[in-house]
Amino acid sequence: MTRSATNKPDSEGIKKEFTFRFYAELNDFLTLNRKQKAFVHAFKTPITVRETIESLGVPLSEVDMILVNGTSADFEHKLSECDYISVYPVFETLDVSVITKVRKTALRTTLFVVDTHLGKLAKYLRMLGFDTLYRSDIGDDEIIAVAKKEKRIILTRDKSLLRSKEISHGYFVRSTEKHEQLREVVDKFDLRSQFKSFTRCITCNTSLVKTDKEEIRNRVEEDIFRIFNAFFYCKQCDKLYWKGSHFKRMETYIRDLI
Ligand SMILES: [Zn+2]
Repeated sequence: MTRSATNKPDSEGIKKEFTFRFYAELNDFLTLNRKQKAFVHAFKTPITVRETIESLGVPLSEVDMILVNGTSADFEHKLSECDYISVYPVFETLDVSVITKVRKTALRTTLFVVDTHLGKLAKYLRMLGFDTLYRSDIGDDEIIAVAKKEKRIILTRDKSLLRSKEISHGYFVRSTEKHEQLREVVDKFDLRSQFKSFTRCITCNTSLVKTDKEEIRNRVEEDIFRIFNAFFYCKQCDKLYWKGSHFKRMETYIRDLI
């Protein structure tokens, strides 16, 4: 015979699992098996973000931004089972305070401008829906000016570019391989919750408009017209997009990768 129901724990005090990911120098405070990766830890609930971070040994004074499932949260945010908590320090190169802070709640909008070495990365970011400026002839001065004006984060392979005092938002992309670069940027800025595939032209960065199928009947081959129902139009390039096999392959690839 089992024990009576009176021994059943209250809703308070039940352990629930959460996933944590601490970034950059915050890893200095973690035990070896938790450094530089996502890890699962169970806590007695109810519990706040503040209590979990302190309990894991990370000083709150080092924390500048917290995302819970991709949304900015403050220290007093109460966690729910299976939440994914990303914790960022005060970046040296990226001043996150202008995007969002632990004491505010707002969704981040992340805009990029990339240097001339990162054309492939720019296309991938656009494919995932991120507003990403890139031109093969864009100069450093122009990159800095547009980053400042439009609050874009500079992604660059050129460390000297980031030394400019004019820059408040910049990141040196470590990897030289295009797929790794995408993974690196997605990790660095915790972009997973912001993916909006098929909203931006891969060629020119313009927002795509969903078109009425009948309107494009004469513009695509019969098979394409028959098979696909959703078509997207770039008015800048006068180009149509649909979720064909190439797109599906790329999408699967990107999702597998990250
Ligand atoms: Zn376009």
